[in-house]
Amino acid sequence: AAVIVGIDGPSGTGKSSTSKAVAAKLGLRYLDTGAQYRAITWWMLSNGIDVNDAAAVAEAAGKPEIVSGTDPSAPTITVDGADAAGPIRTQEVTSAVSAVSAVPEVRTRLTELQRTIAAEAPAGIVVEGRDIGTTVLPDADLKIFLTASAEARAARRSGELKGKEAADLAATRAALVKRDAADSGRKTSPLAKAGDAVEVDTTELTLEQVIECVVTLVEE
Ligand code: C5P
Repeated sequence: AAVIVGIDGPSGTGKSSTSKAVAAKLGLRYLDTGAQYRAITWWMLSNGIDVNDAAAVAEAAGKPEIVSGTDPSAPTITVDGADAAGPIRTQEVTSAVSAVSAVPEVRTRLTELQRTIAAEAPAGIVVEGRDIGTTVLPDADLKIFLTASAEARAARRSGELKGKEAADLAATRAALVKRDAADSGRKTSPLAKAGDAVEVDTTELTLEQVIECVVTLVEE
């Protein structure tokens, strides 16, 4: 039978690197649900929709066509056929994504898309996000909840950013803590650990150790 793994947690815990590597090692597909929330946010910003106007975001939620490529060695994302991989990582999108992802119509639409992608993965899939274990795939075979101290998360995120942004660790930490608070505080499927998820604190672990830990849990 297909193996379904859900990996949740706040930003900077190593979710993406871990999820991709675990999927590649086990021959599974890989889905980055955060990239989908970013893609819909990018479309809203590009189309002049006020991301703080929940009614306008709800009204537009069904319009963009979002397609995710699920090969863990080369994941892709397009919006209305355009490559969105670059634009979804800008500061502008990162700052706006929590507001867009708090809108229930956005979540309903993407949750449906995510379930379809998971159901169609032949051998199974590793799905990473914030609400995979609680809402998207409550029947997943394995649920992981990754955590790390705010310091460790800010340092990792800072290392991913380039030049000027990377220099300001304090600002990175503040932005990250703010986004996690917004994601944890929203009413519809907030960032949360499922009751049956295995929590892995990655603060003192290398990426290799986290990957090994998750692979072992899948194989058990
Ligand atoms: O994982 P990443 O940091 O790229 O996610 C970007 C944002 O997308 C999160 O801060 C959150 O607002 C939203 N998100 C979500 N539910 C998910 C995945 C991401 O609300 N399952």
